Formats: sequence, structure tokens, C-alpha cells
Amino acid sequence: METLLTWHKNNHEKQLLGRYIHVDSILELLEKLPSEFEVKQCGFSVEKRPIHTVTIGTGKTKILLWSQMHGNESTTTKAVFDLFKAFQQVGENPLFETILSSCTLCVVPILNPDGAFAYTRINANEVDLNRDAQHRSQPESTLLWGIYKDFQPHFCFNLHGQRTIYGFEDTGKPSILSFLAPSADKSRSITLSRKRSMQVIAHIYNELMPYLPGNMGLYDDGFNLNCTGDTFQAGGVPTILFEAGHYPGDYDREITRQYVFMAIVAALENVSNPLPINEATYLAIPEHQKCYCDILFKNAVDGDVGIQFTEKLTRNGIEFIPELALKEETSSMFGHRVIDVSGIKIKKLLEEKLIGKPDIRHLNVDKGITITL
Ligand SMILES: [Zn+2]
Repeated sequence: METLLTWHKNNHEKQLLGRYIHVDSILELLEKLPSEFEVKQCGFSVEKRPIHTVTIGTGKTKILLWSQMHGNESTTTKAVFDLFKAFQQVGENPLFETILSSCTLCVVPILNPDGAFAYTRINANEVDLNRDAQHRSQPESTLLWGIYKDFQPHFCFNLHGQRTIYGFEDTGKPSILSFLAPSADKSRSITLSRKRSMQVIAHIYNELMPYLPGNMGLYDDGFNLNCTGDTFQAGGVPTILFEAGHYPGDYDREITRQYVFMAIVAALENVSNPLPINEATYLAIPEHQKCYCDILFKNAVDGDVGIQFTEKLTRNGIEFIPELALKEETSSMFGHRVIDVSGIKIKKLLEEKLIGKPDIRHLNVDKGITITL
């Protein structure tokens, strides 16, 4: 993993940076992929933006990966293009070669190009594609289903990004990566495919533990057949949900990106060469909670106040607009940034100077006191 991290730091796809990644960001990169990558424009979104698949590898284990099913979750897309770069430098790490000779990967880099363009979770018809697995009312959902049926994968990797609100109440640590082996039925039984998903996640967890101790968790495993992962898992194909989370201060998610890359490679390593791992490791991974905000003003005369950023696409790119954190999302609150404002009445001040304002660099808290955010 150490050599993988070093490789990533030097060689990641530097044409894709920041949070706003859409079809125009990746077209040139797709065109430049060498001939061992099969790039196919396989359909269109509601607003007629192209959706692509990239197929690579010669092995018998077939893995279907899709990213940006939620348009504003771009971190995993960056990691996918880092993976494409790795596969062009197989001499750099024997693992890259092993993966390509054992597996065939079919990757949908941006499944929801309209959402990616508008920087929204939903598609252009305002449908959450990850709740449309049964009805398949949207062209993007039909397309993914068609790819799944044609390709007949042995594994599915469902690549997402999570908000900054997740952490661990017990330890106060933020949730930087999280995973799920989705349930295949209401009783959340450990079916054969679910067990295999758990083993893959257990391997990722063990491999990344030295880098993210206490920062990896599990999503809630409540069963919902409208979710794509649950549908594929229920169909007997081991499916793994990856969620790229927030590393404190890394709003561009360039640090999380490297851990996502390592997690995908670790998963592919396990799929290529299954190691005997007990799913008990998975079952011991803690579930994360909604207990974090972006900035926590502590010890104010009128109580602690949490600020949550709302991400908004503007002419300047993605801006992070401060809003008051919702109480129901933050039972016991931790902050990615904590500012001590002892002796100051903070609430009115924040409402006047900070809430809803795009420029959050400086906040004059009181005469003579400026907080640089
Ligand atoms: Zn998502």
C-alpha cells in the first residue's frame, strides 16, 4: 500500500482536480486512452449528454464499476481516472498487472452527466437514480441495467461520495471512507454474495487501517430494493458501496481521492486473488453517525453553534455557503474546524455576518477580533 500511495502522489490524473467534474472534463482524457482501453459511448442522459463505458483487462473475473450516479459526487470519478493511469503504467507496480490479467473491468465514469453538469445529486428529471433501480424510469437507470445485463459482472462497485456530516460519536473522529455490503433482503441475511462483498470490504479495511485508523465506517444496511446496490446484491452479484468522505480541510477532496484509489485497488486485489478473510472483520467495522459540522463555534455565551456548508455551483466554480447546521443531523456535534469564541455572543453575529454569505474568509467576531476561516 505504501508504494501505491507514493505512486498516486506522483502520478494521479492531474487534469482532473477539485469538485466540479463533468463530461467536458473527461472527454479529452477518454479520447487519449490507448487502444487497450475500449471506450464506448453507450447512451445518453435526459438532456442528451453522452454516457460512456471504458473496458480494460483480459481476465475472467468481470467487475462493473459506476461513478457519479449522483452528479455532485465526483471524488470517485477522479480516482477512476487515476486507476486508468495506473493501468497504463503496469511496470510501476506488479499489482496493476495482476489485476489486468485476472479481471476485466467495465467502468461508467459518469452515469449522471446532467447532474454532474448542474452539480446536483439528482438527474435532469429530478430523480435520484439510486432510488430508481426497480422502476428504471430514467434513461440513465435503463442504461446501467442494460450494461449490467450484457456484461454479467461477478462484482459491482457502486462509487459515491458522502457529505461532511459523518463521523463517530464514540471517538469524535470524522468518517473519511465508508463502505457497505448492501443487504439482499429485509432480514439483512448474510447471503453468499453479501458474504463475498463483506470479505472484499474487510480486505480494504485491513489494508487501509494504517492510513485511516478510526476514520473508516459502515453505512446503514437497511434494505431498499429501489437502491441499485440492493437490487444487484439481491440478484446474487456481490456489490460494494464505496463512499468518499471528508478529510478535514480537504474541501477539494484531493486527499480523500488518494484513499479512494487505494481502496479500489485493494478491492481489485482481493477480487483477483481472494485471500481467506473472515467476514467477522467486516461485522466489527463501526457504523458512522451524522455528528459532524464544518465549523463549530464553541464556548460562546449563547451556546455552541455549528455551521454546515451548502455547496453551490456559481460562475466561480463550487462555492461553500455557510448555513446553520441542522440539529436533527447533529446529535452530539463535532466540527472539522473548531473555533473557541469564549465570552462572545455568537448567534446574532453569525446571522449578520456569515450565514448565506459566499465570502467566508474573514469574520469580524467583535471589535478587534477577526477569525480567519
Ligand atoms: Zn451518492
